[in-house]
Amino acid sequence: MAKAKILGALLMAATISSSALAQKIVIAHRGASGYLPEHTLEAKAMAYAMGADYIEQDVVMTRDDQMIVLHDITLDRTTDVADQFPDRIRDDGRYYAIDFTLQEIRGLNASEGFRLRDGEKEQSYSSRFPIGSSSFRVSTFQEEIELIQGLNKSTGKDIGIYPEIKGPEFHRAEGKDISTAVVNVLKEYGYTTRQDKVFLQCFSFEELDIIRNQILPAAGIEVNLIQLIGNAESYPWMFDEDGMNKLADYVDGIGPEKGLVITRNSTRDEIEITDLVQRAHDAGLRVHPYTYRSDPGQVPRYADSFEDLLEKHYFAADVDGLFTDFPDKAVRFLQSR
Ligand code: CA
Repeated sequence: MAKAKILGALLMAATISSSALAQKIVIAHRGASGYLPEHTLEAKAMAYAMGADYIEQDVVMTRDDQMIVLHDITLDRTTDVADQFPDRIRDDGRYYAIDFTLQEIRGLNASEGFRLRDGEKEQSYSSRFPIGSSSFRVSTFQEEIELIQGLNKSTGKDIGIYPEIKGPEFHRAEGKDISTAVVNVLKEYGYTTRQDKVFLQCFSFEELDIIRNQILPAAGIEVNLIQLIGNAESYPWMFDEDGMNKLADYVDGIGPEKGLVITRNSTRDEIEITDLVQRAHDAGLRVHPYTYRSDPGQVPRYADSFEDLLEKHYFAADVDGLFTDFPDKAVRFLQSR
């Protein structure tokens, strides 16, 4: 009897500590990008106010080696660069951030993402913040960190950052070491141990290897690294039996496209959860898939609603966190559960 009681107490302690470790998180994808133009400081402040645990930055470099928060290595989709600098177009019809100085980029108007249709700007998500309304700008990586750290001071919270190194090979070919630049900024702003609230993400395994084994040791810091996985084809070995174990020598977690967690072929009657999350967890890796959107047409057919989509991924598939354009909805969902 006494033995059973002790065992029960031990089990309870184990459950409490593992559930504390397994606290599920909400990552604001490009800020509260479902409501305000992606990656603007306004979208980040809104995500912060909505209670996101981490706020994402995509990082790209300018001609004068400054780091800006921008999803694409080009400025076409989210700014009026084509209107202001028509002659700076490259042969492929794009305007590259790396061809512009920070001062030039600061003069651009940022907006909701769009594509050109018969010369007219048509926004990618028609139900989102109207293009051409109000006034927004592209910010630097440091400005965004200062916004989040400033809010951490004024609110007493400790919200994390989740930077992504964009196009490391492209930057290197242009003579820029973006990973070292990002790591140096992390160090400067006090993100120096795995306990600090930062996840550094990248799609390139080769770059993450360099970051873990050369750049972080050279800077004398440690931070959590996340391997983004867009499909099963880029690095087939990651999907082998021991793939996640191999990966665990380099990174602390994975950020898979959500179709790699619950297959796109799933239906309401037949949900197909892959073994990716289980394999990652067995290897000690966290799993933070992307991207969860509640816009019309963006909820996969196997889910009844956006909340049902969250239920299936957070709890049926047991992911540890997820990237969403609608952080308020994910925060509310987790609080209600
Ligand atoms: Ca990203």
